[in-house]
Amino acid sequence: MLKRGNEPTSRSTIRRASIPVETAWLFFWNLLWVRAMDYHKLAEKSLRGEVLTRQEMGSVLGAPAGEISSLLNAALRVRQHFWGRKVHLHMLTNARSGLCPEDCHYCSQSAISQAPIAKYPLLSRETLLEGAQRAKAARAVRYCIVTSGRGPTDRDIETLAAIVRDIRQAVEINICCSLGLMTEGQARTLKGAGVERVNHNLNTSRRFHPAICSTHTYDDRVRTVENVRRAGLSTCCGGIVGMGETDDDLMDLALSLRELDVASIPVNFLHPIPGTPFEGYRELTPERCLKVLCLFRFVNPAKEIRVAGGRELNLGSQQALAMYPANSLFVDGYLTTPGQAAADTHRMIEAHGFEIDDTVPPSA
Ligand code: SF4
Repeated sequence: MLKRGNEPTSRSTIRRASIPVETAWLFFWNLLWVRAMDYHKLAEKSLRGEVLTRQEMGSVLGAPAGEISSLLNAALRVRQHFWGRKVHLHMLTNARSGLCPEDCHYCSQSAISQAPIAKYPLLSRETLLEGAQRAKAARAVRYCIVTSGRGPTDRDIETLAAIVRDIRQAVEINICCSLGLMTEGQARTLKGAGVERVNHNLNTSRRFHPAICSTHTYDDRVRTVENVRRAGLSTCCGGIVGMGETDDDLMDLALSLRELDVASIPVNFLHPIPGTPFEGYRELTPERCLKVLCLFRFVNPAKEIRVAGGRELNLGSQQALAMYPANSLFVDGYLTTPGQAAADTHRMIEAHGFEIDDTVPPSA
C-alpha cells in the first residue's frame, strides 16, 4: 500500500494505476447526480423558509447548460407547493405615455430617450374601461393601469380614483396601478376607490441603481413601496435584468424583495429599445433568464413571480419553461413594446400542462 507522500509519479506507474472506464463513468454520473440533487436541496431549504447563502444563489445563477433542466425541476417543486400548476394572467395599459422628466436609462418614455414612441396625456375613462373589458376577456385577473412620470399629482390620483370606481362597478377584475413615486395619502385614496394593488419596482440593487437612473434614488423607490403597504394595498415590486448588473446585484435585489415581503414580483428582461441609453445591451440568453427566475423563486418561495417585459424577446422559444419557476405572465404586450397575443399565451400555457386560473382573488 502506498503511503502518503510516496505517491507514484512516473508515466508508466500512472498508466498502471489508471481508473477503469466503468469506474470513471460511475464517478461522473454520481457527480452529475449529486449536483442535480443539490438544486433539490436548495428547493427543500427554500420550502423550509430558509434563506439561501450567497454561494447557493451563485450556484443557481452559474448553473451549467447541462443542468438547467435539473434546476428548473427543483424550482418547479417550490412553485407547485404554493401555486400548483396555476398561472395568473395580467394585462397592462399605458394610460399616459412619454414626456417623463426622469432619466431611467432603460425606459423609452424618459426625458433622455430618443425612441419614436407615441406620447399622450391620460387616456379617457371610456378607453380605460374598454381596456379592462379586454383584460377580462383575455382571462386576466388584474388590469394594470400604468402612467409615465415621476409620480402622480393629487389631481391625477382623484381622476384615476373616479375611473377605477367606474371600472370596478362594470368589470369583475382587480386593478393594479403603477404611477411612480407615491405618498401614503395618495395610496390610501386609491385603496378607497377600489384599487387592490400598486406596482413600484426597485428595478435593481441599491449599489447599481445610480448606474440606471440619476433623477431619483433607490430609497425613493423603497419609500413608495412602504407607503403602499402602510395604506393597506397589496405590493407589487420587482426588477429589470440585463442592464449590466452583476450576479451580486441580482442576489441583493432578490433579498431586498424578500425583506420588503412584497406580494408580487415582476421580473423584467431588458428589451433594449433604440433611442435609449441601453439600446446596445444584448447580454441576456434564454438560459440566463431562466436561472434568474429560479433564483427569485428560491429566495421568495411563496410569492407571485411574474415573467414580465422582455419575455418574448429574451426567452424566445423557451418561454414556456419560464412557468417552471414563475406563476404569472402578462398577455398582449407591454408599455411601448408588443408581446404575445392572449390566445397564443393561453395555448402555450395549456400545451405545457399548466392551467390558467382566472378566478379574481378578493381585494385585501
Ligand atoms: S420608468 Fe417611469 S419614471 Fe422612469 S423614465 Fe420611464 S416613465 Fe419615467
